[in-house]
Amino acid sequence: MGHDRPLTLTLGDIRVHVLSDGVVWWDGGGMFGLTPKVLWQRAIRPVQADEYNRVPMMLRVLLIEAQGKRILVDTGIGDKLPAKVRRQINLVGERRLLSQLQNLGLSPEDIDIVVLTHLHNDHCGGNTYLNDRGEVVPTFPNAEYWIQRRELADAMFPNERTRGTYFRENFLPLEENGQLRIIDGDTDVVPGVWTTLTPGHTAAHQCVIIEGGGEYAIFLADAVSWGVFFERMAWVPAYDLEPMVSIHTKKRLARWALHHHAWLIFQHDARFGVATLEAHGSALIVHPVEEERREHGD
Ligand SMILES: [Zn+2]
Repeated sequence: MGHDRPLTLTLGDIRVHVLSDGVVWWDGGGMFGLTPKVLWQRAIRPVQADEYNRVPMMLRVLLIEAQGKRILVDTGIGDKLPAKVRRQINLVGERRLLSQLQNLGLSPEDIDIVVLTHLHNDHCGGNTYLNDRGEVVPTFPNAEYWIQRRELADAMFPNERTRGTYFRENFLPLEENGQLRIIDGDTDVVPGVWTTLTPGHTAAHQCVIIEGGGEYAIFLADAVSWGVFFERMAWVPAYDLEPMVSIHTKKRLARWALHHHAWLIFQHDARFGVATLEAHGSALIVHPVEEERREHGD
């Protein structure tokens, strides 16, 4: 746990690199909602809450190479947070995602498309950065950033409950630079890569599906942020705005994943990033994928 090595899935001609913008420590009560701590702390072993009741939360990001395009899905929490907030969530290091891209031989200029699952700060903080002149500018200067119309509206006009995580500096500079692309509903990104609406966490939250060589993978984002949220359907994070809609979405995603034998990519799970799903009667079991099986399809 903690040292999350980048790994790659190969689906036909498409390569999916599971990267990370690091790890933050978030309140366990927020993460596991109504679930009593005695239950969730057992379910996430060997991961443990710290003395402030915080649990580690991975900030995974996808880099998809498909049809000659380099597509990022989400951008992590980025480097604009004040020092005090960084301490509160134990965020260590800078340019975490950018250094992982660099390890793959890529610079920010090489990214063609950024798809945002939603606009909470831990998913899109890396969209922009503070430059030497003190301006907030897009991190990926040649990319088009794809955002759901309804999600952008909710982020532009947050309510009392959502304004702590919707920050305009994460998306307004994209529009000012002509790099924003508004999408509305399920949308093809390139052949073999598309988004699908998965409401509950937010009203217009979306997942990203990859299909190649007859195989499927899905980036679940905050629709199912930890594997245990599939195994225990009633468990829903306190952050979800519409918990009953979240449960409906999870059931639909589980049926889809079982039908397609899909690779599941969990964005925040501190135990594993990639898994598969199995049904045993009415029970769902999430199987973490071992390192040697991750190059599946090669
Ligand atoms: Zn999140």
